[in-house]
Amino acid sequence: MPITSPRLDRTALRAQFPALAQEVGGHPLVYLDNAATSQKPQYVLDALTAYYEHDNANVHRGIHELSRRATVAFEGARVKLAKFIGAADSAELVWTRGTTEAINLVASSWGMDTLGEGDEILLSSLEHHSNIVPWQLVARRTGARIRYIEMDEQGRLILDDLPELLTDRTRMVAVSHISNALGTVNPIREITEQAKKVGALVLVDGAQAVPHRRVDVQELGCDFYAFSGHKMCGPTGSGGLWGRRSLLESMPPYQGGGEMIRTVGREESTWAEIPHKFEAGTPNIAGAIALGAAADFLDEVGFDRIAEHERELLSYALERLDDLGGIRVYGPTDLDERSGVISFTMGDAHPHDISTILDSRGIAIRAGHHCAQLVMQHFGISATARASFYLYNSTDDVDRLIEGLASVKEIFGPA
Ligand code: PMP
Repeated sequence: MPITSPRLDRTALRAQFPALAQEVGGHPLVYLDNAATSQKPQYVLDALTAYYEHDNANVHRGIHELSRRATVAFEGARVKLAKFIGAADSAELVWTRGTTEAINLVASSWGMDTLGEGDEILLSSLEHHSNIVPWQLVARRTGARIRYIEMDEQGRLILDDLPELLTDRTRMVAVSHISNALGTVNPIREITEQAKKVGALVLVDGAQAVPHRRVDVQELGCDFYAFSGHKMCGPTGSGGLWGRRSLLESMPPYQGGGEMIRTVGREESTWAEIPHKFEAGTPNIAGAIALGAAADFLDEVGFDRIAEHERELLSYALERLDDLGGIRVYGPTDLDERSGVISFTMGDAHPHDISTILDSRGIAIRAGHHCAQLVMQHFGISATARASFYLYNSTDDVDRLIEGLASVKEIFGPA
């Protein structure tokens, strides 16, 4: 079992993440950049090296022991991850390099095949660039039009506008489950119900949701769900796209090459069954296997505990930031509507300066537009500082963050 007992003893849990046990600039590391990528537990690192040390071979091809083992582990991880996100059928889970590739796959394969002049794609203004730019590329080539669900002053989507935005031309609604820039949790079920009324498909960008809460793609009622392994204790370059079987079967391949064919002729080829039709070339075998280990790890800790812990940290951090004063926090004020991401500005201090000062104290946060420039435009700013929590963070980490911000305040003066 990956977790030492007791299960959520913070010190024991933290000790399983080797990268957290280091000093930066002479200070113990406080890692609060989890929305960008999470650290990896030893259990996942062991799964990665075990594959390379013992089973390294290509999948689905060789009739030899190592290839058999690699294939069993690779396909076993697919079954694990499919179950992890509530899919009914593991063939509906396509391995990708992460969320970005998963969305590009749908935009390119489904979009290029289906969209035409005047069709509409509905996005939201709090999307990550990964859920905007692929649609712009396909819109430009097909003549489709992009529309946006706007947000209010707290960064919540204005769903009252949906009946007007959803028309008989709407083919796709693509929204994030949780915003990386504000932490807003979107009511996906409500959005899918309304989208279905006009016959539109729904793609959910789950990059910030799958690491932090139990996701059930069937309950959400969406048609596609994209996620990244590296934000959920898994390796970089791993992740997936879940899609409804009938849709994936009707879509043309995304890339051509080995693995995705049934037969190849001089002029024409035929395709393998899903999910292999979308997995051209040698996949990230080690990454998929280690992502399976990450799913086991998170299951073992338990999402109820992870969510509860992150909420406690969020609540504690917001209170302490309020006490410190001079800080503007963006995003919903109701904790039920947000996740463990705190995006903030501090008077005249540029977010990059805040981040640099914190870094000199061993505290890692993010500063910038967080690949969400439409969010920044909405609030009339160019950047925010962002602290984001995960299961291994503690109130001590929050205290260190507050101390660091107090020193920023001293340097820049009161806001
Ligand atoms: N969507 C959201 C909401 C994200 O937070 C991210 C990563 N910051 C992405 C998409 C892109 O994920 P990746 O870079 O792993 O493909």
